[in-house]
Amino acid sequence: MARGNDWAWCPTCRGRLAHVARGGRPRPTCAACGFVFFANPGVGAAAVVRNTAGRVLLVQRAPDQHGAGAWCFPCGFVEWGEDVRAAAAREAHEEARVEVTVGEVLQVASNFHDPEKPTVGIWFAAELVDPQATPVAGDDAVAVGWFDPSEPPPLAFPTDATLLARLARGG
Ligand SMILES: [Zn+2]
Repeated sequence: MARGNDWAWCPTCRGRLAHVARGGRPRPTCAACGFVFFANPGVGAAAVVRNTAGRVLLVQRAPDQHGAGAWCFPCGFVEWGEDVRAAAAREAHEEARVEVTVGEVLQVASNFHDPEKPTVGIWFAAELVDPQATPVAGDDAVAVGWFDPSEPPPLAFPTDATLLARLARGG
């Protein structure tokens, strides 16, 4: 169940919420003020950085992260009011300390690995501004590395595996 679907009290007027069907699904609804809670997925942005050897930049997730110890593309939630491409570049900088330019979309997919917080992920091709730059582990990461897409380390997210398999096939 999505976060918020079990709320008991209205966040607007503190009235009692009850589930009322709207658009075919029960939604927490406040009879007092009319507030309706629509649970929507979050949006995630990932940066797919490839070096001249065709290897991809992955980060190993820190112990307090979902999928701790496993690896993923630098990624994170798009902030409210933030451009989705800017979010991908920001995550590359925060997690791997590299400056990137963000290019084309490589994949869009729904993520259901965390039932409490479904997301829509958007994976962008990204290029190092300085091709000689050396990534280092930043926020939310304990290690970084370049990997052959056909031989990735243990992965945190199944949708990263889907994209890596496609990149390994040259797609
Ligand atoms: Zn209310």
